This record gives sequence, C-alpha cells and structure tokens, in this order.
Amino acid sequence: MGLFSKDIKSMGDLFLHVLQDIYYAELQIGQALPGLIEKATNRELTAELKIIETEATRQGARLEQAFELIGEKPKGAACPAIDGILKEARDIAGEVGPPKVLDAALIAAVQAIAHYKIARYGTLAAWADGIGKAAVGKLFSTTLKEAKATDRKLASLATKKVNVKAAA
Ligand code: FE
Repeated sequence: MGLFSKDIKSMGDLFLHVLQDIYYAELQIGQALPGLIEKATNRELTAELKIIETEATRQGARLEQAFELIGEKPKGAACPAIDGILKEARDIAGEVGPPKVLDAALIAAVQAIAHYKIARYGTLAAWADGIGKAAVGKLFSTTLKEAKATDRKLASLATKKVNVKAAA
C-alpha cells in the first residue's frame, strides 16, 4: 500500500510508523546539515547551525531510546516530506548567489526543517501520552522544546540581522 511498508491497524502501529518516519527524517537531516553549514557566511548563523547539528545527534539518540522503550529496533521509514524539504534546501543553497541573501535563504530552509520536526514530535508526544507511554512522550517533548527554541532563535537572527543585511 503505497507509502507504508505495512498495514496500519492500530494506534500503536500508527505511532510506530511515525516514529520510524521521524527517525528516517533525522538521519537525512544529519546528512544534509554539513552541506548547509558550509554555505553560511554570517558567523552567528554558522554558530547556530553547528548547535543545531550537535542537538540533532542528541535528538537521534533520544529516538533510539524511544524505540528501545517500546521494545522495537530503530528503523527508518521513507519520509517523502523531509526528502522534499531537504531537496529544496540543497537546491536553494546552490542557486542563491550573493552570500548575504544566501544566509537568509539558509535560515528559511532550516526553519522549514525545524517546522517538520515540530509537527512530528508534537504529534508523537501527544500520541505517546494517549497510548500510555508517558516515558517515551517525555523524550519527544524534550526534542519538541528544542526544535521550537531553534525556530525562535533562527527567526530572531533573521529579523534582527540576516534579513536586514540581505535587503541592504
Ligand atoms: Fe514524513
């Protein structure tokens, strides 16, 4: 059945599928970030992106913990959404000429990544509580908070500095 590797018959199946989706997504994000960081020129942006990269490693480890807590082996499930977001990020990073404009484009691209994470971790946190897996839910809530903080920091960096320079 199309996108899914197996039929989803219960909330538990659906939960596992989305966990596998974000696990795949995190692996892809981890592979894409170095290339995006390399393109950044604003020093604060570079520093922020490196923090995001370090956090992503911890967030990936948290996902592996989540798999363990529900008695499953860490496994990814193809996520066309993150593939698309990352393709767009790579494309735009390769197409924007002026470095200051490129910095603004990179922020927008990394915010799109953060927004996907916010959507998925928010859902997983809510579902985990709903199916009585509060300990797993806590792991997702922690990452959700970090992703929201990342989004806010990038937005602030954009509006206070990068966008201003890009428009000058
Ligand atoms: Fe997905």
